[in-house]
Amino acid sequence: MCDMKLDALKLLVGLAITAMSHAAVSQEIVTLTEIQPAKSGTLYTGNREPLAPSPFVKLPIGAITPKGWLRHQLELERDGMTGRLKEISPWLDFSKSSWADKEGRGKFGWEEMPYWLKGYGDLGYVLKDETIIAEAKKWIEAAIASQRDDGWFGPRELLTSLNGKPDLWPHMIMLNILQSYYDYSGDARILTVMLNYMKWENTLPTSAFGEGYWPKIRAGDNIESAFWLYNRTGEPWLLELARKIHAGMARWDTDVINWHNVNIAQGFRAGTVFWMLSKEPAHLASAERNYRKVMDTYGQFPGGGFVGDENCRPGFVDPRGGIETCGIVEFTHSFQMLTKVTGQPVWGDRCEEIAFNSFPASMTPDQKALHYITSANQVQLDRHNKSPGIQNGGTMFSYSPFEVYRCCQHNVSHGWPYYAEELWLGTHDHGLCASLYAASEVRAKVADGVNVSISEETDYPFGEIILFKLSAPQSVTFPLYLRIPRWAENASVKINGRPAPANPKPLSYLIIKRQWQDGDTVTLQLPMKITVRKWPKNHDSISVERGPLAYSLAIKERWQKYGNRNPNWPEWEVFPDSPWNYGLEINPADPAGSFSLVTKPGPLPNQPFTPETVPVQIKAKARKIPAWQLDRLNMVPALQPSPAKTTELLEEITLIPMGAARLRIAAFPTVSTAPDAYEWKAPLRPKPSAYKPSASHCFANDTIEALGDGLEPANSNDHSIPRFTWWDHRGTSEWVQYDFGKIMRVSSVSVYWFDDTGAGQCRVPESWRLLYRAGNEWKPVENASEYGTRRNTFNTVNFKPVETTGLRLEVQLQPRFSGGILEWKVKE
Ligand SMILES: [Zn+2]
Repeated sequence: MCDMKLDALKLLVGLAITAMSHAAVSQEIVTLTEIQPAKSGTLYTGNREPLAPSPFVKLPIGAITPKGWLRHQLELERDGMTGRLKEISPWLDFSKSSWADKEGRGKFGWEEMPYWLKGYGDLGYVLKDETIIAEAKKWIEAAIASQRDDGWFGPRELLTSLNGKPDLWPHMIMLNILQSYYDYSGDARILTVMLNYMKWENTLPTSAFGEGYWPKIRAGDNIESAFWLYNRTGEPWLLELARKIHAGMARWDTDVINWHNVNIAQGFRAGTVFWMLSKEPAHLASAERNYRKVMDTYGQFPGGGFVGDENCRPGFVDPRGGIETCGIVEFTHSFQMLTKVTGQPVWGDRCEEIAFNSFPASMTPDQKALHYITSANQVQLDRHNKSPGIQNGGTMFSYSPFEVYRCCQHNVSHGWPYYAEELWLGTHDHGLCASLYAASEVRAKVADGVNVSISEETDYPFGEIILFKLSAPQSVTFPLYLRIPRWAENASVKINGRPAPANPKPLSYLIIKRQWQDGDTVTLQLPMKITVRKWPKNHDSISVERGPLAYSLAIKERWQKYGNRNPNWPEWEVFPDSPWNYGLEINPADPAGSFSLVTKPGPLPNQPFTPETVPVQIKAKARKIPAWQLDRLNMVPALQPSPAKTTELLEEITLIPMGAARLRIAAFPTVSTAPDAYEWKAPLRPKPSAYKPSASHCFANDTIEALGDGLEPANSNDHSIPRFTWWDHRGTSEWVQYDFGKIMRVSSVSVYWFDDTGAGQCRVPESWRLLYRAGNEWKPVENASEYGTRRNTFNTVNFKPVETTGLRLEVQLQPRFSGGILEWKVKE
């Protein structure tokens, strides 16, 4: 990081002073890879000393008017789930929420309402929607009214909900809500409420910030709010509080200290945010180090996310796993924050990457439902269990507006509003920065306080031209910053239609400082070439990218409603109606030449993130890989080494931006007909049981069908195949049974016990025996050999042959433990 800074100072390329013919305008164009202000002094509220000076600052909410597709996303959000969530979320019932009660008492008082209001309020401020603003205000006023003399506000139960100690997590979200409301309204009461609350926080011992699972890991959010308040009030004890929180919380500055996907997405930045106070280089470097550590193992595919479903798990790195919707929106928020803290353009790139490629597909195109897990390879979104393919059991892939995805259902709200608020930033040297590109208009102060507006016209991220038009009341000198993305080789810029002397390099800021006139235009061209990105750590798979967008196979989607909870709020499964098991045939000498671009003429559609409306397609050559078929969980099986061997026909296939593809293959294998290409194995699929199985009890997430499905375990703790368990019965007598449906002569059975010692509470049984059906009775078999309880092997018992219609296996579970069976074979 230190070296990078030195480089940045040296990397002053393309300095040019030119004289324009009409008015002898002085002009300076530079490219910087990192923005490092020498001192504080922004036109808007930036860092106050002793905090490190802000390279960029957020503009007041309302300064930026989003347009085009981004505005339409916000309108869909208003008319969809976030805007109307109170119709279906009990946590938003004002009469039952302890966030709404003056005494802080009620039925619901944890993270759900704050998660929703955090984005809902901003949605109103960005759209200038009075109905939403009024509704948001109702909740904010209630929170203000609930503040006690000691500073606590909101739910009283949170004061003691962590074993008698306060749970500080939900208030971290609530502080974000208050910050946005203050930015929008300037209501001075907000500062008082926050000061009172943080004064109360400052009476807590340092250890209080290390309490509870979520609060201690996410307390970096609290530090950010303390800095925000310090910058607006100058109260020095707020910095003391920030130091105390940092000292007490789980320390992301030391390492990736937790592997939960949302914790990573919001926690990884904590050390770098605290650097603004500590000035320790190791703190500054920690966000980048953490990001790389996570992504180098779990993010080796396109889309900007990583496999963390629910946690990152060793060995689960294939893009059939994915990231939670909460993880996506927290990542974008973190990247926006880090842009302003570090002045490094790479965070803007990362923000666009996940926002364009993963976020749209986390929701239905009408934003009336979402799912929990979004993956780069995800070819069927049914409602059934995907565990152990992904960590959580139950519904995770299908789209629902209901509390099955309770956190995401509320927290998705801030994704697009925060994004829209960060398109433009104020700069330390009294200019403006186009940080994230989208059609928009910004009205803001520059120079010594002159109000200007800049309209940004573009089809970005689908088109490569961005046109900026300035409106100014007078000629005014200020710097205009343009972020040059990682992929933008040979970017160029024109000022008032004439090529400007600039040769901006990827991953930099192009800074044009000149005496601007009303009506001046700047045209930025960011050439979008089709490129092939190779993922050596993921079996040499590839992704196809153009500009900030990665591309997916276009898979025909069949949408099917399920459930019947509320006719206004359908739930959806999505099934593939066209083949998806393609690998790409690439010319190694010219990988990019294997593709051709198809752009649709006409204006950009309002909602470009659907297969039907997407304005750009790529044609590619591909062959099917016959062995690559849905596995037993109806998930796409993990990638195997590329190139995959296949002799299937060469076909032309269509690729679409992966953000528009709810069914997707975006991490592609390559294919080859050569004899030394890799032969792929088909997934193991369970056979239907030959005998009818039943049991005294079976855990809901397990299956009785596992007993006779023919899938033999690798060991007693094998989580890759279906299992049967008696969970959560412990220490009891239990049984499983096969009904043959005919008379069979049997003399031997073999049992493979499930035992998850080290991970769970299932063990081999204390003892067991075998019974056979004799008329209406169960009788023990005779002359049985040893009833074994060995792990990691089949336990075979031989006995005097019986002729019977069924066998029953009776177990006595170990005291305090449950048990299960992975496979039960019967020898006829
Ligand atoms: Zn969530």
